[in-house]
Amino acid sequence: MTKNVLVLPGDGIGPEIVAEAVKVLDAVKSKLSLDINTVDGLLGGAAIDAAGVPLPEDTLAKANDCDAILLGAVGGPKWDQIDPAIRPEKGLLGIRSKLELFGNLRPAILYPQLAEASSLKPEIVAGLDILIVRELTGGIYFGQPRGIRELENGERQGYNTYVYSESEIRRIGKVAFESAMKRDKRVCSVDKANVLEATILWREVMEEVAKDYPEVELSHMYVDNAAMQLVRAPKQFDVMVTGNMFGDILSDAAAMLTGSIGMLPSASLDASGKGMYEPCHGSAPDIAGQGIANPLATILSLAMMLRYSLAELEAADQIEAAVSKVLDQGLRTADIHSEGMQKVSTSEMGDAVVAALA
Ligand code: NAD
Repeated sequence: MTKNVLVLPGDGIGPEIVAEAVKVLDAVKSKLSLDINTVDGLLGGAAIDAAGVPLPEDTLAKANDCDAILLGAVGGPKWDQIDPAIRPEKGLLGIRSKLELFGNLRPAILYPQLAEASSLKPEIVAGLDILIVRELTGGIYFGQPRGIRELENGERQGYNTYVYSESEIRRIGKVAFESAMKRDKRVCSVDKANVLEATILWREVMEEVAKDYPEVELSHMYVDNAAMQLVRAPKQFDVMVTGNMFGDILSDAAAMLTGSIGMLPSASLDASGKGMYEPCHGSAPDIAGQGIANPLATILSLAMMLRYSLAELEAADQIEAAVSKVLDQGLRTADIHSEGMQKVSTSEMGDAVVAALA
């Protein structure tokens, strides 16, 4: 049966890196005779320009109909001054929330070939393999009430609400424990239970979920300590599970441990395994249009999509092996370049992955 993939290039470097991932998808499709159909859609700033809103109905309808979504990135200075209600990021948050993509998997793996690219000493990061499981559709990014109001004394006050219900915590907990069962069977739940009531409940529910996974060791860590431990001794972690905002920040810190945010894929899954796949980085407007962005995070996101939503494990393995091969060949985009390596453009990197697949 044909599987359908919605492709959303988005803004900034999005179209450049997604084009390379589609190139790789076409190559793996013909090599392994996969029956996968792609359809394009608009999201973010590109959608605002074309349709006046960051998440057009047409995109949402296509997203509902497909088996998986491949996204580049959204946003950029061009749309920074517009009404906050229709900013590009609203399109991203909207699609995650409408499709109930609550489980964000962000692997932070250090390819041995890139140990020198990390800002930390190679012995601290060599062999790093962490999975950050971030809750994506709840917490302070969605909590109501929110806004900017004027107080009686005329001063403006900004406010947001940090809220998590028991069921939201339980379902992301399950994702983390299930993932840990396929790995080193350790979950570290990150919260701020010494200050925030919402995360006192988070901790309690994680303890309850843990009872269903007696083989998995559960530990808890305050987010400030977790940030410190991630840069002090990151290899102590296997799976980290946390809420939306803490996960946002910690996963970017974990990204830098691996040398470049340009290497990190992510998956956002619903309860049935349907998912949206995107690089962890943003639209990088500072380098957009220059042909120098690293497409590997998007290509590795494609591999995750084939594995988690399309059940094409062989294709996923082959793409990951091809990425490793081009790194072995010494090919590097500017963000991961070091002395003695061959600097390549975005499309040259995509072509090299296609060649390595063949
Ligand atoms: P960013 O991730 O876009 O860029 C941070 C830095 O990393 C920049 O110097 C950029 O050049 C570099 N970088 C990012 N991806 C790269 C790649 N593939 N290859 C080489 N270098 C890369 O973050 P930012 O600058 O904070 O945000 C830029 C825009 O992206 C903003 O509008 C922001 O809202 C948006 N954003 C979108 C997403 C998303 O779509 N999921 C995520 C984060 C930020």
